[in-house]
Amino acid sequence: MKKKIWRLFILFGLSFLLILCAKSGELVVLHQVTGPIDTNCYLLYDAQTKEAALIDIGGPIDTLVAHIQENELDLKYIFATHVHMDHVEGVPQIQEMFPDVLLCYNKKEYENFFIIPEWTKENLPDLYAAMLNSPDLKKYVEYDLSIFTEPDIYLEDNQTYRLGNLEIRTFLSPGHSAGSICFHVGDVLFSGDVLFHGGVGRTDILGGSKEKIAKSVQRLYAELPDSTKVYPGHGEFTDIGTEKTENEEVRMDAVTIKN
Ligand SMILES: [Zn+2]
Repeated sequence: MKKKIWRLFILFGLSFLLILCAKSGELVVLHQVTGPIDTNCYLLYDAQTKEAALIDIGGPIDTLVAHIQENELDLKYIFATHVHMDHVEGVPQIQEMFPDVLLCYNKKEYENFFIIPEWTKENLPDLYAAMLNSPDLKKYVEYDLSIFTEPDIYLEDNQTYRLGNLEIRTFLSPGHSAGSICFHVGDVLFSGDVLFHGGVGRTDILGGSKEKIAKSVQRLYAELPDSTKVYPGHGEFTDIGTEKTENEEVRMDAVTIKN
């Protein structure tokens, strides 16, 4: 009798472990810096099912594409944390290579994308002139925007998307732009230009707001564990606990945004 109970326990114990593994999935994240403003572009996938997504394609991403092809990953989604050119410039190229991939933007972001060049010219003439004078950034204000297609899916707050056994949750995080989205999966947050190591994104571009970015960042601080890794749109990786206590611009209980 005793033996039987142990056998049952071992059986249930084993299946419980297997269910836990299957439920959480095995997150793999690869990263490539690209484009004239050194944008962090990310490839993430479930190692078990090979379902994959790209976040922020700011230019050519040959290394990530090679990894997708060599490992026969099933690229399901292109996500953009926001639709500024330095985060979507490489999108048309990837759509051509992977015609079944679903493009996902926030609706307001996509609408504003077509207005930004004119808006910047009128409201931030110095920035516009600086871009025109920069050999690297000139193309950002002269692009043929018609090659950037309407998304297949509009991203909103608190949606979930699946990659195999992984679950990606969206946080609508306005402030750097009107409809910035952060993506949370496993113990990682892809924070776009909302939260950086030691700072936050600029708030003077179309749709930006100091008050809104502070609220967005404080919500991330409040809802995510301190151990959450933060993979931003530019610069170094960090984690929620570090930013909560050390970020000079938005702390848990204080806001001192400068620009
Ligand atoms: Zn950016």
